[in-house]
Amino acid sequence: MDLGIKGRRALVCASSKGLGRGCAEALAGEGVDLILNARGQEALEQTAQQIRDTYGVRVDTVAVDVTTEAGQAALLEAAVDVDILVTNAGGPPPGLWSDWSRDDFIAAFDANLLTPIALIKATLPGMMQRGWGRIVNITSVAVKAPIPVLGLSNTARSGLTGYVAGVSRQVAGSGVTINNLLPGLHDTDRLAMLDKVDAAAQGVTEDAARTARIATVPAGRFGTSEEFGAACAWLCSNKAGFVIGQNILLDGGAFPGAM
Ligand code: NAP
Repeated sequence: MDLGIKGRRALVCASSKGLGRGCAEALAGEGVDLILNARGQEALEQTAQQIRDTYGVRVDTVAVDVTTEAGQAALLEAAVDVDILVTNAGGPPPGLWSDWSRDDFIAAFDANLLTPIALIKATLPGMMQRGWGRIVNITSVAVKAPIPVLGLSNTARSGLTGYVAGVSRQVAGSGVTINNLLPGLHDTDRLAMLDKVDAAAQGVTEDAARTARIATVPAGRFGTSEEFGAACAWLCSNKAGFVIGQNILLDGGAFPGAM
């Protein structure tokens, strides 16, 4: 299926690895030119070169921390008149309710709530003026099924979900869609880090922690960045123009609800 977005330009935040990279690759596979971002320059440049070599699209890189104002300014400067925005950043650390301070919450809000809001607010006017735009936020299954140890993430991402629900409807008449993709368990560095934390807490090996986690997924495996990216590319496509303000769960059936 031709998704109809060849020649469009996309800013994909936090995209040298993992789910952000999956989104970037899937968009590149559709002929979309990219602005990629991560803090670490080496992995970012490697990913950019691999994508150029594989898909033949233009790939620019901006090695900054997307959660800082200076980082956002640098990204927006590189992404003038961008058609597609994929927001993403690292997730907050796990912990216990009694340990989380005001500063911890503010850091989580900055990374996973205020950063996407700032990027959305900056890119929306141009998209609306041109009559076409696609915004996808990488959030988490935690907005449907909060994960106790990820309370900082649960709180910040729920705020973003509420923001998107309202704004997406305010701008829908301008040809711009805003939706959220909710990853369940996907096989990335982030998940390996969480396995390490669980293994230490439970006094088991990382393999045992991983096996126990896989057992919670009806599909019997973790998701892949490629599968996640394919869903992102579809949401960014011409075929998905009537999908507004939705929260799409990719979790191998782990969430037990009917809807
Ligand atoms: P990952 O494999 O750890 O990859 C994170 C990517 O983001 C890397 O390219 C990293 O590069 C970049 N990054 C991290 N912090 C950044 C920052 N402040 N500024 C710019 N780039 C940054 O993580 P992932 O699994 O893809 O997760 C992506 C998001 O989905 C996270 O918010 C995570 O909490 C959420 N999520 C993941 C899962 C899962 O199962 N994987 C499930 C639910 C939610 P640098 O380190 O070089 O910056």
